[in-house]
Amino acid sequence: MKRLLEWQIATIRAIRQETRRVKTFTLALPDPSPHRAGQHYDLRLTAPDGYQAQRSYSIASGPERAGEIELTVERLEDGEVSSYLHDVLVVGDQVEVRGPIGGYFVWEASQGGPLLLIAGGSGIVPLMAMIRHRSAAGSTVPTRLLYSSRTSEDIIYREELDRFSNDRSGLVVFHTLTRSQPPEWSGFARRIDLQMLQDVAKPLGNDIRAFICGPTPLVEGVANGLVSLGIPADRIRTERFGPTGGF
Ligand SMILES: Cc1cc2nc3c(=O)[nH]c(=O)nc-3n(C[C@H](O)[C@H](O)[C@H](O)COP(=O)(O)OP(=O)(O)OC[C@H]3O[C@@H](n4cnc5c(N)ncnc54)[C@H](O)[C@@H]3O)c2cc1C
Repeated sequence: MKRLLEWQIATIRAIRQETRRVKTFTLALPDPSPHRAGQHYDLRLTAPDGYQAQRSYSIASGPERAGEIELTVERLEDGEVSSYLHDVLVVGDQVEVRGPIGGYFVWEASQGGPLLLIAGGSGIVPLMAMIRHRSAAGSTVPTRLLYSSRTSEDIIYREELDRFSNDRSGLVVFHTLTRSQPPEWSGFARRIDLQMLQDVAKPLGNDIRAFICGPTPLVEGVANGLVSLGIPADRIRTERFGPTGGF
């Protein structure tokens, strides 16, 4: 049987600047395995003196993409691994990765919906894999995405989300901008609260699948909010990216 968790050496095939602080890296894998939307890879860096640092990164690309994966990484100011990936890596470089990992925070089109997806910042990454998979699979399950960003410049995948929400497949995208809003902004303009959750989630009913991803405080606040709105806890799946809250 194939061992999924062996380290392999991936080659950086492309690097795309998504926002000021976010880049997407396309990794060519010598030994690719099929993944499910929502899974992640571990990435390991080794310094010349043998020091190693390892972090997890969600797979941004959909499962339909063969032989390569995309990872979308936010650069943290004092972040050991994310600043290396942003400041040092160039196309053609190699990094060690292993995966795909995770069987809980995943969605496959065959599972159906309705889907409620809620993200803060780079927490959009595994949800984007689900949205890309949903589109590639031709799924039309009613889906609502609530995405919290600091400013409009910080919205990751903005144009692609606009395209998906205009393709009449049943995806509705709601943005909230917590720090500043451009003139004539028509989306939400505050942190996610109970009223916002109710406004976004209500039309889907309570028999839904909810996926929440982002900074720990956002994830916990949203999960508690959904439970208080009557959504059964076993319908809510969460992924925590980090300790801080900036949304
Ligand atoms: C399953 C999983 C999937 C993940 N997927 C992604 C992804 O797709 N894209 C992505 O950018 N990150 C993702 N992360 C977060 C990622 O693993 C790292 O934690 C992040 O890149 C910071 O690592 P660093 O070495 O740059 O920072 P570190 O040197 O570890 O930390 C620097 C400082 O930032 C704080 N910090 C650590 N993590 C975060 C965070 N996520 N947000 C805010 N502050 C933080 C630390 O407390 C510390 O103060 C994921 C995490 C998990 C557990």
